[in-house]
Amino acid sequence: MKAGYYVGDRKYQVRDIQELIPGDNDVKIKVAWCGLCATDVHKFNGKNGASPVIPPIILGHECSGIVVQVGKAVTRFKPGDRVAADPSFHCGHCEFCQQGLVNFCKNRHGVAKGFAEYICPPEKNVYPIPDSLDLRTAAFAEPLSCIVHGLDLINIKSGSTVAIYGLGAIGSLLVQLVRYSGAAKIIVIEREPEKLLLAKHLGANIAVDDVEILNIYKDINIDYVIECIGNTKTMEQSCEIAGKNAKILWFGLGDPEQAVKINQYNAFTKELSIFTSYLNPYSTKRAIDILSSGILNTKDIISAELTLENIGDELDNLAFSRQGKVMLKLSGEL
Ligand SMILES: [Zn+2]
Ligand SMILES: [Zn+2]
Repeated sequence: MKAGYYVGDRKYQVRDIQELIPGDNDVKIKVAWCGLCATDVHKFNGKNGASPVIPPIILGHECSGIVVQVGKAVTRFKPGDRVAADPSFHCGHCEFCQQGLVNFCKNRHGVAKGFAEYICPPEKNVYPIPDSLDLRTAAFAEPLSCIVHGLDLINIKSGSTVAIYGLGAIGSLLVQLVRYSGAAKIIVIEREPEKLLLAKHLGANIAVDDVEILNIYKDINIDYVIECIGNTKTMEQSCEIAGKNAKILWFGLGDPEQAVKINQYNAFTKELSIFTSYLNPYSTKRAIDILSSGILNTKDIISAELTLENIGDELDNLAFSRQGKVMLKLSGEL
C-alpha cells in the first residue's frame, strides 16, 4: 500500500509499504479522504505537532473511509461500514486517563495516519458515519472535534461579543459554530480581503484586518477572543483587544521556540482568562453529529482536492492552504 511520509529536512515522499493487518481489536479502513492540517505543515517544517516529531512519519490524521476488514474481537463494525477515525489513542488506565483527562494520556499515540491508502485504528477510535453525511465532509470530524473541545472550555454565553483571528479552515468552522451558540456580535480579524467577504458570508457581523481592529475595539467590550492562527503577534494582540472579564482561547498552534509577551497589568485590570485547547477529548461523536445535522457550510471552505503524489508541493508552498482547507483524495468515495 502507498503512504505519504515526511522524511525530514522539509522533504515529502510517497512510499510503498507493507499492507496493514488488523489486530484482534482493530478496524482496517480504506481511507477515502484526509484533511491537510496545519500541524502536518508544522511537522514538514521541522516543528513539533501535538507530539514530538521524529521522521520518517506518515502524515495526516483527519480521515474518513470505508471498513474493509475487522479483527476477531470487533463487534460494532463490519466491512462496508462508512466511518471516521479519532486519531488519538488513549490507554484508559494511566493516571490521566483515570481522571478522564484522556488528551494527556501517558501512552497517547496516533492511530490514524491518514496520508495512506489504509489505516488500522482500534475499534474504540472508530465512529460510524450516517448515510446522510458524505465522506469528504466527514473528514472534518477531527478538526471539528478539536474545535468542540475548545468551545467546551470557554463556554460562550448567549448575547456576547466574540472576536476570531484567522479565517482558515478552523476559523471558518468556528465562526459558524459561534453564530449558533447565540453570540450577538462576531468580529473576524483577517488580512486577506477575499476572506473578509467569506467571513461575512459565514456569519460574521464585522470583518476587519489586524490594523483596523485597533480603531474599533475600544468601543466594544469583546467578551471572547479566539486566536486560530498560532501567530505570536495576533496572540499578543488578542490580549489587547479583549474586554473586561474576557476569555481568550489560543487555539492556533504556535511556534515552539517563540514566546508570547503579555502585559500583566493590562491583563490584571481586565481580569482576563487565557485558555489553550489540546486535542479532542470526548468530542468526536458531537463533531460528527454537528456535521450530520448539515448546519455547517464546509463546501466553501475546501480550497483544493489533492492526491498523495502532489500534496508534497502543497506542503512546500501552501498555495491552496492559504485559501482554505486542502483535502487529500485517497479512494475519493463519498
Ligand atoms: Zn488536525
Ligand atoms: Zn492513558
